[in-house]
Amino acid sequence: MELSSLTLRSAQEMLRSKQISSVELTQAMLDRIRKIDPQIQAYVTVTEDVALEQARRADERLATSENVTPLTGIPFGVKDCLSTKGVRTTCSSKILENYVPQYNATVIDKLADSGAVMLGKHNMDEFGMGSSCENSAYFPTRNPWDLTRVPGGSSGGSAAAAAAGLGLFSIGEDTGGSVRMPAGFCNVTGLKPTYGRVSRYGLIALASSFDSIGPMAREVYDVAAVTEAIAGLDKRDSTSSTLPVPQYTQSLGKSVKGMKLGIPKEYFVAGMEAGVESAIHKAIQQFEALGMEIHEVSLPHTKYGLPVYYLILFAEASANLARFDGTRFGLSVRDGAEDVIDVYLRTRAAGFGDEVKRRIMLGAYTLSAGYYDAYYLKAQKVRTLLRQDFEQAFEQVDALIAPTCPTTAFKIGEKTADPLEMYLSDIYVTATNPAGIPSLAVPCGFSQGMPVGMQLMGKHFNEETLFQIGHAYQQVTDWHKQLPPLG
Ligand code: GLN
Repeated sequence: MELSSLTLRSAQEMLRSKQISSVELTQAMLDRIRKIDPQIQAYVTVTEDVALEQARRADERLATSENVTPLTGIPFGVKDCLSTKGVRTTCSSKILENYVPQYNATVIDKLADSGAVMLGKHNMDEFGMGSSCENSAYFPTRNPWDLTRVPGGSSGGSAAAAAAGLGLFSIGEDTGGSVRMPAGFCNVTGLKPTYGRVSRYGLIALASSFDSIGPMAREVYDVAAVTEAIAGLDKRDSTSSTLPVPQYTQSLGKSVKGMKLGIPKEYFVAGMEAGVESAIHKAIQQFEALGMEIHEVSLPHTKYGLPVYYLILFAEASANLARFDGTRFGLSVRDGAEDVIDVYLRTRAAGFGDEVKRRIMLGAYTLSAGYYDAYYLKAQKVRTLLRQDFEQAFEQVDALIAPTCPTTAFKIGEKTADPLEMYLSDIYVTATNPAGIPSLAVPCGFSQGMPVGMQLMGKHFNEETLFQIGHAYQQVTDWHKQLPPLG
């Protein structure tokens, strides 16, 4: 069995036709993680016992063919910011190094109910803050295409694992590009769903009004199947939508002829790596060949996307992270502390990394009296303008196309000295989160040997159209089938 090239769909067929059992598949994946992951370091925790037990139960379901879903018996990994009952959940932070949740995130429960098999927890930038996975308190994850380069972030472990075949899909989280940007760097397909499409219950919050949990895998079909399983109303998340979840996989295969694709002119300006630009242009030609109409559109407030995102993120993150104080979760530094305030200070000083501290301070500043109106409130107003830009564009077109990043994966250490430069690598992916719209990242070529990703952005709750367009593209191209040069 060629594990590295296996897709979720092909594994599904093998399981159903009894060519392989879930226990065999899971064991093979665990062996592969043991062999390959020391070079990549995508996993923070491998849950071998949980995986084998879930696989055994999946085999029972498969044997009777009762209650079998598209994910029954399929091994996956999950970003370490989703709570897993009885399994350490660290957010790749020292402050949660030994934190073991007492409950599962809704997404984890849904995957367990569908019969999927959890292999472990993925490395990430601490609390989701970063674009390279270098802000993990433990170790950086490496890009499977070139081990001297970053996998992107913050779901870097999830993207690298999906690319390297260390799981048949990954569950990532996208607050400002964290699914799409690493998907592009690692040549995998990934979805940031509409805000409210997937329950956030049990997700350790970064910025609560942006956070979206989304899948990453080899193909659009795989991502659509996982989205179907994890989406839907959850009474434990009041922001989850009441809209019914479409059967995404069944809408795949419909022609895209006559559909309209928009090119936002503000996204195609100087500064993009030449190889990235030409890959995106070739993808646009491909869509034209598929019969789509191509239109230039304008998103006039694009230049405010990145600053608005970061201002609101700092504010929400600083409030969310106030709960880590050494009394309730994880690390507690009590030795030498004079009083409870001193415990808070010592715990937070020892437990948070530099980027997290930087953002907590910036957030506290933008929320403080005298600065609130000038920064936070203004950013919220411009957020509405960003959303309106997208809504107006979607009156003219069905979807928008843009790169996921102006460059391909950069070298480890290249941007760590300059936080602003790191933030700038998110320039194409951050505006979608304040707007709340869905966006699908799809591999679309290579530049100097490294993968290039495009994103297709769509109307609120219209993931279906993005899957349809992405799937049509993958029927006539094979970029997504290219595999990193690993054993
Ligand atoms: N690069 C973004 C940031 O640092 C990614 C955040 C995310 O999507 N989790 O904020």
